[in-house]
Amino acid sequence: MIIRVGHLYPEYLNIYADRGNIAVFLHRAASRGHELRVEPITLGTRLEPGAHDLLYVGGGQDREQTMIAPDLAARAGALREAVEAGAALLAVCGGYQLLGRGYRGRDGSWLEGAGVFPLETLAGETRMIGDVLLESTLEEAPGRSIAGFENHAGRTVLDPGCETLGRVVAGFGNDGGSGYEGCRVGRALGTYLHGPLLPRNPWLADLVLSWALAHATGAGPQPLTPLSDELEQEAHAVSSARARERGGRPVRS
Ligand code: GLN
Repeated sequence: MIIRVGHLYPEYLNIYADRGNIAVFLHRAASRGHELRVEPITLGTRLEPGAHDLLYVGGGQDREQTMIAPDLAARAGALREAVEAGAALLAVCGGYQLLGRGYRGRDGSWLEGAGVFPLETLAGETRMIGDVLLESTLEEAPGRSIAGFENHAGRTVLDPGCETLGRVVAGFGNDGGSGYEGCRVGRALGTYLHGPLLPRNPWLADLVLSWALAHATGAGPQPLTPLSDELEQEAHAVSSARARERGGRPVRS
């Protein structure tokens, strides 16, 4: 199958090498005989509703977020339509924040979001930095371990009753207090976890890829043929161990 990917603002939102997540999707799709076609969607380029099986956006500093936020907010309808029609979506950190209703920066400025996720984000005085370990709250993989790295001033508050990505075992998560991290709406996932996220969480990469394939084929999501993943499991073990050692304390920025 050809899996069509829309990569949002790749030249602006790519902090912590988040584009590595695209490399993982490319490799894991090709390993199953599928072709991933990645199209950059950036300032001024058209986003055709229904043209993508997977939409992806990485993280960025407040400065880069400010540069793309108006363009992203103008795509709110197309992005919500794509998610409602079953496209897969993965948003990381700054991209995650801007797919909520909006982000209030440290200077008090409000960046209107796309409203894909029912949440809002307010930048705090301290930054939440370090390795993170979660237990998945996704119904497809309850309790599975998710490891990554976080660095955000934003405190993200989900509307009551929202689905999350995981329960925080070590680290801060969405706001340092709720005990949860990330958000899920249909086949759309938002998370603070950099790393990049997917090389150290191969099962999560395959889950999102199965959603994208389901959108491409029109069939229901099917489990993908397992890959060996020795290196990925080793990366997960190292990342998880570091998170457990950390505990989670605000770092003065
Ligand atoms: N600028 C946002 C914050 O500080 C997002 C940071 C990021 O993408 N790592 O919360």
